[in-house]
Amino acid sequence: MQEATQKRLVILGAGESGVGAALLGKQQGWDVFVSDGGKLKEEYRSELNNAGIPFEEGHTIEKILTATCIVKSPGISDKVEIVKQVRKAGVEVCSEIEFGYRYKGDGRIIAITGSNGKSTTTKLTYHVLQQAGYDVAMVGNIGYSFARQIAERPCEWYVMEVSSFQLDDIKYFCPDIAVILNITPDHLDRYNYRFEDYVASKFRITENQKANDTLIINKDDEAIINYISSHSIHAHTIYFTMNEQQRLDEGGFISGDQMNINYGGEGWDMSIHDLAIKGKHNQYNSMAAGISARVADIRKEKIRESFTSFEGLEHRMEYVATVRGVAFINDSKATNVNSVWYALESMKQPTILILGGQDKGNDYNEIKELISEKVKAIVCLGLDNTPIHAAFENVVTEIYDTHSADEAVKKAYELADKGDTVLLSPACASFDLFKNYEDRGRQFKEAVHTL
Ligand code: ADP
Repeated sequence: MQEATQKRLVILGAGESGVGAALLGKQQGWDVFVSDGGKLKEEYRSELNNAGIPFEEGHTIEKILTATCIVKSPGISDKVEIVKQVRKAGVEVCSEIEFGYRYKGDGRIIAITGSNGKSTTTKLTYHVLQQAGYDVAMVGNIGYSFARQIAERPCEWYVMEVSSFQLDDIKYFCPDIAVILNITPDHLDRYNYRFEDYVASKFRITENQKANDTLIINKDDEAIINYISSHSIHAHTIYFTMNEQQRLDEGGFISGDQMNINYGGEGWDMSIHDLAIKGKHNQYNSMAAGISARVADIRKEKIRESFTSFEGLEHRMEYVATVRGVAFINDSKATNVNSVWYALESMKQPTILILGGQDKGNDYNEIKELISEKVKAIVCLGLDNTPIHAAFENVVTEIYDTHSADEAVKKAYELADKGDTVLLSPACASFDLFKNYEDRGRQFKEAVHTL
């Protein structure tokens, strides 16, 4: 990005990241223009108006091509015609985190990516830093966009949730601490159905890191281990694992019921039963957050205390209520098969599973074994439930179709005995019957509360 006299910044997409980049750009002296393909949300429209930033609702390519630099929102795919034209014209395109990075000053970044667990780990890490009294903000897909945070209240530390889409258009972006939690197939439609492209995109989080930066990765993840065996990594790399045999001198591991974290010649452990968030997946997330916090120089006592006091996130294995002995759990955010695997893995009671929605081409084989072991009945909640029937008709005897959260909850409750758990963990997107996964989760909870 050249600091030429006539520097013009065009933002594609007026969501949280686009508006954040626009506000930061304006503050930094750019001539800013925002172009959205559709109607803007009222709050963003008035923000842009108040800041005196012009925008359009419907793209005009001539206006877009006047840019010195274009910030493309992560939701806009490279396959969209307007982006193809921009690329062809050779205008510099960067993502919002890249743009923010250039103005972050001395602020330090902990950037967290992965196919699952990003939001939980980001919030947990943020919680630890905050409890330790650090000047810290939580940014990215969760909370404010990075660019907006820098424009409105720059901090000493940023804990950032990063998606592969944000990483696709970075150039200099370099976190002090980068975390890759896991990589399993997701969003492949944006990567020409090539898993290796998606993996490479996640690894861009470390491409500008140097030896004094840290990369924290999951040693049990096949895609991660394959990638690092054939690519050189410049950052100091630290692992975490569930494998008892590993006992890493540096890194995180679980032995028996103890989570162990060793860093900087000092080790500590805590019982997994004292972690506020439950399940194997959250042990991975906690190890990643715990190592990050140690690298950020937080004392082990503080980390332990924060791990105990942490309140999880809405819609992620969220306990809703127990109604006449039947417990209800809202895991509406589980929009892929891998996250359902972890949800089921943590189930201790016989389970009625509410599954289904908009299927992204799921391969259900991964969860068949756990379903046959733990699930008494499946309640489908989607417009088209044929893939679920096809996958599980020989595994579970009772499979029912429902088309609203209310109907699904009533059916599941009817099927449940005292001591059972009803788990909403759909493995699918929600857009066929709901506005989004939050809407699905809230409707589920409302239905439970009216039982
Ligand atoms: P993300 O931000 O990556 O989508 P979330 O923290 O919102 O991740 O969790 C999304 C879903 O994945 C939830 O259903 C949650 O229970 C599950 N999950 C959380 N952490 C992990 C993990 N480390 N591995 C697999 N699944 C996970």
